[in-house]
Amino acid sequence: TDGTGAGSGARVRPRLTVLSGPSGVGKSSVLAELRRMGPDVHFSVSVTTRKPRPGEVDGVHYHFVDRAEFDKMVDNGELLEHAEFAGNCYGTPRAPVLAALASGLPSLLEIELQGARQVRAAMPEAQLVMLAPPSWEDLVGRLTGRGTEDPAVVARRLEIAREELAAEPEFDQVVVNDDVKSAATRLLHLVVGPAPDAR
Ligand code: 5GP
Repeated sequence: TDGTGAGSGARVRPRLTVLSGPSGVGKSSVLAELRRMGPDVHFSVSVTTRKPRPGEVDGVHYHFVDRAEFDKMVDNGELLEHAEFAGNCYGTPRAPVLAALASGLPSLLEIELQGARQVRAAMPEAQLVMLAPPSWEDLVGRLTGRGTEDPAVVARRLEIAREELAAEPEFDQVVVNDDVKSAATRLLHLVVGPAPDAR
């Protein structure tokens, strides 16, 4: 893409958007807000070997699978991309994404950096969007304040977060999560893209 954003008339309207960003930056909150807006957008549901967190619903936030099921999906070529993150496996089922795109619906994936790179390689037309924190200190505060993971996991995620933020130049767009509603609105504009040419 040309990287000039939703206002560029010269670019083909993006259909597949990959949202990435460090753990704790608020991807879930921004996505929840985006869902509440009720857009005509396909939200990809990943498979993961991670255990559900309180409040997470199987088939909504993730498809929770065991390692054997996950490996089988990989072997069968059912995943558009997959990666290991902090000791768990995550992957994007390919068929629902392709079905959405074929029906003209924009598709949104929320995945980590290695997966984003795989999507970029497999589908160069994909738009990569990074959700970034207002500052590093802000991110540390959010990650340590969540309280659902043990300290070793938090430390590991902070380490990964540094690497993810350093990859910003690989992304087409950066959305700073200074305010959830505002970030969701900006993301929505990127996902849905500019209106088709008025005639
Ligand atoms: P969490 O365990 O906090 O829900 O997610 C951990 C990381 O895995 C996040 O950065 C999230 O974006 C990423 N993730 C979630 N689903 C997928 C997926 O299908 N593929 C990849 N590569 N990463 C994913």
